[in-house]
Amino acid sequence: MEQGKLDLRYYAKVHSIESFGTLDGPGIRFVIFLQGCSLKCKYCHNRDTWDINSGTYKSLDDIYDKIMHYKNYIKNGGITVTGGEPLLQYQFLIELFKKLKKKNIHTCIDTSRNGRINR
Ligand code: SF4
Repeated sequence: MEQGKLDLRYYAKVHSIESFGTLDGPGIRFVIFLQGCSLKCKYCHNRDTWDINSGTYKSLDDIYDKIMHYKNYIKNGGITVTGGEPLLQYQFLIELFKKLKKKNIHTCIDTSRNGRINR
């Protein structure tokens, strides 16, 4: 799918999803790795998330439904959005987190606060 045709509040470019994460926040977590980061840190262990032109667009509804499927496993943890740099796709984060907060699901963002991409 081309970015120009998508409402980026409802679609995110995803690198991968981990349904049972124990390293990215408190408790057991559903972890979403978003695609894209321009910092290129020397110590980065997720270099395959750097290319903003890679990854796969997934819809908010698809991701939300998947999270709900695991809600009993993550009730003492939550969801973490990492990457890559999640703030590059902040419109999507706002919509996703609004939906999750209505369900009292704990949320984390793993960010460098670098919301710009160098193409
Ligand atoms: S900010 Fe994070 S994802 Fe981006 S290059 Fe640095 S360590 Fe890797």
